Amino acid sequence: MTTLADTDLAALVRDVQDYPEPGIVFKDLTPLLADPAGLKAAVDRIVAQHAPGSVDKVVGVEARGFLLASPVAYLLGAGVVPVRKPGKLPGPVHERSYDLEYGSSTLEVHQDAFAPGDRVLVIDDVLATGGTAAATVHLVQHCGATVIAVAVLLELEFLDGRAALPGISVQALLTA
Ligand code: AMP
Repeated sequence: MTTLADTDLAALVRDVQDYPEPGIVFKDLTPLLADPAGLKAAVDRIVAQHAPGSVDKVVGVEARGFLLASPVAYLLGAGVVPVRKPGKLPGPVHERSYDLEYGSSTLEVHQDAFAPGDRVLVIDDVLATGGTAAATVHLVQHCGATVIAVAVLLELEFLDGRAALPGISVQALLTA
């Protein structure tokens, strides 16, 4: 399989105008995920930023984060934990509400998802305002675990999502 340059990876991201609302340019990563070389490059580049044995759990944020969290966790020798929208997890949960670029939402995680002191890598597809990532970081920390980094495929720099994540290492493969 060929390896992909950053420019080729970026070319696999599709801009969808006015979705899900007028004025929003939605960064659709499904072409990148559907491309064998694109998926491999994305997963390999996230994995390469972490030493083997340095991550205990990888958190995937519903829903597109799930698609990346599982292969990354597998390759790092870590477990995978879903952070989900309300009502999806069957056990006792912690929940956190937050604002989005468009609207607001709530995320939940199982109260027993982490062992105390677990080193956690949080993964999502896009970092926009940072509200989703910040809520996820809060949930992980509330469970007594440590967030070592937030990794995303694409960071929308103009929304300055990093400002919502003070003290957290943010790793973005692509920026727009
Ligand atoms: P935020 O909480 O504002 O950082 O938004 C991040 C979440 O919303 C991620 O889970 C993204 O999947 C999604 N999202 C927000 N804005 C966009 C966008 N312009 N294009 C694609 N996904 C987005």
